[in-house]
Amino acid sequence: MNATLLAPDSLGPTVCIGEILVEIVATTNGNGFLNAQPLVGPFPSGAPAIFIDQCGRIGGNAAMIGAVGDDDFGRVNIERLKRDGVDVSAISVDPEFPTGSAFVRYREDGSRDFVFNIAKSAAARFGWTHEVRNLIERSGHLHVMGSALSMHSAREVISQTVDILKARGGTLSVDPNIRKELKLSEETERLFAKLVRMADLLLPSGEELERAAGVEGEAEAIAKLFEFGVREIVLKRGVDGATYFGWDGARVDEAAFAVAEVDPTGAGDCFGGAYVACRRLGMDPRQALTYGAAAGARNVTVRGPMEGAGTRAELDTFIAQTRKRS
Ligand code: ATP
Ligand code: MG
Repeated sequence: MNATLLAPDSLGPTVCIGEILVEIVATTNGNGFLNAQPLVGPFPSGAPAIFIDQCGRIGGNAAMIGAVGDDDFGRVNIERLKRDGVDVSAISVDPEFPTGSAFVRYREDGSRDFVFNIAKSAAARFGWTHEVRNLIERSGHLHVMGSALSMHSAREVISQTVDILKARGGTLSVDPNIRKELKLSEETERLFAKLVRMADLLLPSGEELERAAGVEGEAEAIAKLFEFGVREIVLKRGVDGATYFGWDGARVDEAAFAVAEVDPTGAGDCFGGAYVACRRLGMDPRQALTYGAAAGARNVTVRGPMEGAGTRAELDTFIAQTRKRS
């Protein structure tokens, strides 16, 4: 199995581009926010931010592009990312718009109600600046979160970044992170399809695999994606674990760790952040899968979307102490 499929960590940081938010979570289960109720937060959040925080925290070279407001919700995010080793030089501070936010309440059946303020917040207001260019010209890898593609600003920066990075020997990973039924605008769909075809590594979850391939059936979708030129696919299956598929036919299955789930938000993002960092640090797929599974599982044991992200030492302890689900 190829240990150096992704550009090495030494080429420059893994960059993630997109929404930076705070999340405020209801402490009781139930339907929505129609009554006054206890809440806890702000927690730093946003799928791209969760990914990059775990990537930095485990020891990968990591950087974030996005925007926050000139407020405490923004400072909470920037301080957390900095603490966990993420380069924040290309996060801009919007003087006018507030930091994006998401209020979340879990229903009894595990589904969620949200009140979002993203599209009209600082989260969506960033673009191609000097700082962004300076960062991209020294970066080694781009990770795209499908959720970010709904923002015009992210589409623009991602499109320019891909070309510059690929030209300097950088690599690309894509987490579709889009529900199968979700209809994207024509422009977004076109960019998504292009990114899937350019990806070195794809990290879909469940049916996103078929959504990305455009065909039904797991084996058919995997075959189609390799035809496109993807070299490595890691399929996330929640409590059923994850599977690595290599373009050379290699397959590795990784069971999930047995933990009590407190807050499922961020599992896939932490899994991805750890997996990409480990591969870029030269680990083989099996070892990277173990760290990915540990990062995902550890994160669901703590309330808050990235509160359970682990350092390499914390994940080693977690792996040593936690049994796998059978
Ligand atoms: P998200 O809901 O954050 O978008 P995802 O759908 O992208 O997540 P999942 O498959 O839910 O990704 O989670 C990624 C990995 O994290 C899984 O493959 C598994 O290893 C681990 N994981 C997720 N949830 C749990 C859980 N409840 N218990 C143990 N491990 C888990
Ligand atoms: Mg996901």
